[in-house]
Amino acid sequence: MRSLSKRRRRVVLLGAAAALLFVAFTQWRAAITRGRSVPDEPFRIAGNLYYVGHTGVTAFLLTGPDGHVLIDGGYPENAPLIIESISKLGFDIADVKVLLNSHAHSDHAGGLQALQEASGAELWVSEGDAEVMTAGRHGGDPALGPMRILRFLGLGRFPAPRVDHEFEDGATIRLGPLALTAHVTAGHTRGCTSWSFPVRDDDRDLLAVSICSLTLFPFVSLVEPESYPGIRSDFERSFRTLRSLPADIFLASHSNWFSMVRKRGERATAENPAQPFIDRDGYLLHIDRAEERFREVLADQQQQR
Ligand SMILES: [Zn+2]
Repeated sequence: MRSLSKRRRRVVLLGAAAALLFVAFTQWRAAITRGRSVPDEPFRIAGNLYYVGHTGVTAFLLTGPDGHVLIDGGYPENAPLIIESISKLGFDIADVKVLLNSHAHSDHAGGLQALQEASGAELWVSEGDAEVMTAGRHGGDPALGPMRILRFLGLGRFPAPRVDHEFEDGATIRLGPLALTAHVTAGHTRGCTSWSFPVRDDDRDLLAVSICSLTLFPFVSLVEPESYPGIRSDFERSFRTLRSLPADIFLASHSNWFSMVRKRGERATAENPAQPFIDRDGYLLHIDRAEERFREVLADQQQQR
């Protein structure tokens, strides 16, 4: 009798703990969603290149006479904000003809389906990321390492867009005079794509490079058995590829990587508002730091073998 009530008390306590955890988890998710819905001021970076993203995750609009190109869709919640930012700048979402993506994670691909619906634009996705993009979930991707167990919490899901074209490393996507070259800088995902493209600013041509991501997920294995076969050599190649690009304008899929907020503030007092974004040193420093971290993790993992 006594042991039964003890067991019952334990069941009640466990149930209460589970309910509390559930409430905390839903509140945490709601707070995250609210944070994602905070709009940010769009602005011209240089020439025909504009920032239309969220404060944290970026989206870039490259405008042209035959239509515009939009790189990245942010979180699912960001799509209406991106559309609003485009119209605040005096452009129309319906004139976006090409949609591009850095990588098929919910914070950069989440808004693509809604943006595709609103614009009718064709979406180009790297061969390496096409499967995850079509599935609309990055949760099960082995490139995430053990973190992929989080898919059971529903994390990493996003509305799947229609993939109109797949491309290989080195492809150039053209729209009228606009030309964007795809550099598959894999490792973070198997098809992680950095984009390089010329921007016409007054009388000069500047090469903009948007870095996909060089971030290693926690516990990703760079030694046998690798999280996915080739992840280590993919990262090694990505550092080399990015260093080889003569980038003038440094961009990335997350705004803090290229100090967007600070640079946007500096525009007001700069002789040319594009100047703060012309940052080859910052670009190289970002690659150096990412490689340093990669080397540390790799050395640790090689030692533990
Ligand atoms: Zn990512």
